[in-house]
Amino acid sequence: MKHVIVSTPGKRYDIIVEKKSFAQFPLILQSLTAGPVVLITDANVHAIYGRQLAARLQSTGRQILVQIIPPGESSKTLQQCEQLYSALIENHVSRDAVIVALGGGVVGDLAGFIAATYMRGIRLIQIPTTLLAQVDSSVGGKVGVNHTLGKNLIGAFYHPDKVLIDPEVLQTLDEREWRAGLAEVVKYAFIQDTELLRLLENEMTTILQQRDADALEEIIARCCEIKADIVQQDEREEGVRAWLNFGHTIGHALEAATGFNYYCHGEAVGRGMMGALHLSTALTGLQADELQRALALIRMLNPPPVPKNISLEEIMARLLQDKKRRSSGQTWVLLNHLGAVLLQDNISDALTRMAVEQACQDLY
Ligand code: ADP
Ligand code: ZN
Repeated sequence: MKHVIVSTPGKRYDIIVEKKSFAQFPLILQSLTAGPVVLITDANVHAIYGRQLAARLQSTGRQILVQIIPPGESSKTLQQCEQLYSALIENHVSRDAVIVALGGGVVGDLAGFIAATYMRGIRLIQIPTTLLAQVDSSVGGKVGVNHTLGKNLIGAFYHPDKVLIDPEVLQTLDEREWRAGLAEVVKYAFIQDTELLRLLENEMTTILQQRDADALEEIIARCCEIKADIVQQDEREEGVRAWLNFGHTIGHALEAATGFNYYCHGEAVGRGMMGALHLSTALTGLQADELQRALALIRMLNPPPVPKNISLEEIMARLLQDKKRRSSGQTWVLLNHLGAVLLQDNISDALTRMAVEQACQDLY
C-alpha cells in the first residue's frame, strides 16, 4: 500500500494506492462519512465495477443514489450537469452527502465539477479507473466541463477529500486507453525522475503485457507524488505546474486538428513529446543519446500515425491559434536533460515546424 499526501493552502488530503483495494472501498468510505452517497459513473464502468460497489454500499445500510452517464467526452457538458443537478435536487441530496466519482477522466472532471458547485460545494471522493485518471486528472483539483467553443473552458479548482486507487481495475481497460495512460507516466519520468525512467526502460515490455499490479502500485504512486509535489508549489498554474504540459503543446494541436475524435489524449501527448524532445535537442542541453533513449520508450507505446489528410499547415495553424489565445504567448516545456525540465518562450516558427515534423514522423 502506498500513501501520497497532497497539501494545498486550502486542503490536505491523501491518495491511497493499493492493489486489490477495490473491495475495501465501502469500508474506507464508511470510516470517512456516514452521510448519503451519490455514486456518479459511466455506463461501462457501472457494468464492471459500479454495480458491485453500489450493492456493497447498500448492504451497509447506507443511503445511496446512483447516476450513470453515457461514456465518452461528449458527456462532459453543462447539459449533463443540469441533468445531474436535477436528479440531486429531486432526490433531496443535502450538503452532508458525498459524491463518489467512479470512472475515467470524464467522470472525474464532471462529477468533480458537480461536487464543487452543488450547494456551493459538497464532499468528493475520487475513484479513478483509467491509468490517465489515476496518475493525472484525479490529482490536483482541476474539475470542469467542455463548452462547444472549447475544451475544459468551464471549471473550478476543487480538491477531493480522498483519492482511492486500485491498479487492479486497469486489467479491464481497453488496450489503446492503457497505452495512452502510459504516455503520461513516461512524461513524469522525462520531466522529473530518472529512476522511474530506468524502471520503465527495463520493465516496459512486461508492464505493457501484464499490467502487473505490484509494479503499477509503485509507478502510479510515484506519478501521484510528482504531481502532488508540483501542484503544492503552484496550484493555479502560474509557474511550475506548466511542467506537466510537456508534450501537450503539439499534443493539443494534434487532437484539435483531428477533431478530438481520432487520438486518445495520451497518444497525442506521446507524439507531442517526440516533437518537444527534438526541440530540446536543438535548443537546450538534451544530448543526442538522451533523445534516442526517450524516443525508444515512446515508440514502445506505438502512438497512432497522423492521418494522411491532416497537413503540417493545419497543425501549425492550431499551434498558432493556441498561442494567440494566451496573453503571454506560447510557453514551451523542454528538457535540459532527462529528468530536468525548463520553460521557454519565443520559439521561432522554423523550429516549431521542425518539432511538428518530428511529432508526425512515421515510427517504423
Ligand atoms: P480518460 O480517463 O482517458 O479521460 P474516459 O473517462 O473517457 O477516459 O474513459 C475512457 C473509456 O474507458 C470510457 O469508455 C470508460 O467507460 C472506459 N473505462 C474507464 N475505466 C475502465 C476500466 N477500469 N475498465 C474498462 N473500461 C474502463
Ligand atoms: Zn495530459
